[in-house]
Amino acid sequence: AGEAKRTGCVVFFNPGIRAQLTRKSTLAQDLRMAIANRQLFIVCQPIVSAADHQLASFEVLLRWTHPELGPISPAEFIPVAEESGSIVELGDWVIGQAIAAAAALLPRAADGRVKVAVNVSLHQLLQDDFADKLLLATSQGFAAENLIIELTESVFHENEIDMVKQVLFRIKQLGVEIHIDDFGTGYSSFSRICQLPIDAIKIDKAFIQSADEKNTAIIEAVVFIAQRLKIRVIAEGIETVEQAQRMQALGVNELQGYLFGKPQLPGTTV
Ligand code: C2E
Ligand code: MG
Ligand code: MG
Ligand code: MG
Repeated sequence: AGEAKRTGCVVFFNPGIRAQLTRKSTLAQDLRMAIANRQLFIVCQPIVSAADHQLASFEVLLRWTHPELGPISPAEFIPVAEESGSIVELGDWVIGQAIAAAAALLPRAADGRVKVAVNVSLHQLLQDDFADKLLLATSQGFAAENLIIELTESVFHENEIDMVKQVLFRIKQLGVEIHIDDFGTGYSSFSRICQLPIDAIKIDKAFIQSADEKNTAIIEAVVFIAQRLKIRVIAEGIETVEQAQRMQALGVNELQGYLFGKPQLPGTTV
């Protein structure tokens, strides 16, 4: 360590930073083979109607069990996949898996409908042929009207907004629903929401889980504006009966959270 200090390389010998770099590049490298090596799988979480708690749709969430490192959270590996470019392949694979899982439930669906929501990264959305891929995926027995894509507020970045607008209007034309995820944590503005064909807003769980006066005011305002714009509001992170009742009283349309079901392997609950 004394040696390192004298040569001014002390930062490279910091084991914490080195461990971080190694883990990140390990993950980036191993992700490329993760599909082929069958380490990835999807789980599904129900989203229910606030009024009667009937299943409205389910969200598909990606899981990765690394052979040496064990389960890795998507909060960690999705950003790695975005940086390293493998998100496009992963994302396409998730959409295929999601549609297969939803199609498998169709025969048992009461009204012949099963809606499935998939998270889509900005990078994935901006592929030249993304809309064509959705068209193909929804032309083999699973209707585009039953597919939802969830986008985070990163799609509102000024640099990409024209491209985003174009692709969203194309996707909307196919019949696919567009939801804004983690609303309130990023860049969204209501003027942006107005310009884009948005069907629903998912209020981030941070606003739901701490029931203080400010968060309540924010939820009330979001619901008020969304109703005027004819956009649905979904609350995520509902863990208690009190939270569910509060959200329904505030006018939220749909609820998602551990209270109604944890993310589980397809075919187990939803
Ligand atoms: P998200 O899309 O906002 O998904 C909701 C997250 O909240 C999930 O975390 C879910 O497991 C968690 N959650 C659901 N109900 C509750 C609850 O009652 N309490 C708490 N504390 N948490 C709850 P998860 O599965 O770890 O995913 C984290 C994020 O990773 C997702 O947030 C999404 O942004 C991203 N992600 C997951 N799968 C994919 C994917 O296939 N593609 C892309 N691009 N992103 C994905
Ligand atoms: Mg989501
Ligand atoms: Mg979310
Ligand atoms: Mg999130």
